[in-house]
Amino acid sequence: MVAWFWKRDKDAKERPRKVVIAEGLWIKCDSCKEIVYRAEVERAGRVCPKCRYPFRISARERLALLIDEGSLEERDAGLVSQDPLGFKDTKRYRDRLKSAKEKTGLEEAVISGLARIGAFPVVVCVFEFEFMGGSMASVVGEKIARAIELAGVKRVPLIILSASGGARMQEGILSLMQMAKTAAALQRLGEERLPYISILTDPTTGGVTASVAMLGDVILAEPRALIGFAGPRVISETIRQPLPEGFQRSEFLLEHGQLDLVVERRDLKETLRRLLAFFADRPPLPVP
Ligand SMILES: [Zn+2]
Repeated sequence: MVAWFWKRDKDAKERPRKVVIAEGLWIKCDSCKEIVYRAEVERAGRVCPKCRYPFRISARERLALLIDEGSLEERDAGLVSQDPLGFKDTKRYRDRLKSAKEKTGLEEAVISGLARIGAFPVVVCVFEFEFMGGSMASVVGEKIARAIELAGVKRVPLIILSASGGARMQEGILSLMQMAKTAAALQRLGEERLPYISILTDPTTGGVTASVAMLGDVILAEPRALIGFAGPRVISETIRQPLPEGFQRSEFLLEHGQLDLVVERRDLKETLRRLLAFFADRPPLPVP
């Protein structure tokens, strides 16, 4: 039940009813629009109890759900973006960076490092969508490329969780170059016969889809994640046709052979553990 109250005093007939939603206890689901109990959502790994929609979560929350507790050895956390083009639109790029840092507590839109999942060592990269839409700045591309190389040096699998609007327009061509750089690094990882598991979360679009996200040996996605290159309006106007229902959502992509599996958030860690065991060619270790 939603805790909301209204009152009307006789002297103010014109005043609208006052609706108060108890702050913090209840949240509205972005998908089914139901008001749901926050604690229940948190318990389910930030998934709507009514419709199973996985809410967007931060990179830190993702890591907490996926990797073995306390196993992250973060790398390249000190790499920070410059403003090579002196870019300004409605705001200066430098100011946008500053407020993104304050908002997220991160230096850039990706966290990378060594970690363990079900005791298997891995290199992991997680995009932070709240940092300028998880856009791929030069530093983001550099951190990912270094993480890929680290997986090669350590001889461990690579896992990247994407949540991104694509290239960072404030860095122009320098951002686009990250697509080639990360793709080339992944090619070398493949030549070294090391697996790369890509996990697509809501939303994964633009240059990130067109590079790292879709180059996985295994590509997983969360339910109902928006996954695409250009937005639906642009595509619809280009091909001059209405788009089919569910277009650019995980389930649609799975049906059309673009993904290997759509995995509920609560099953993601166990799925990864099994995949890592498969690639390691040994049975999964017992759950600690
Ligand atoms: Zn819902």
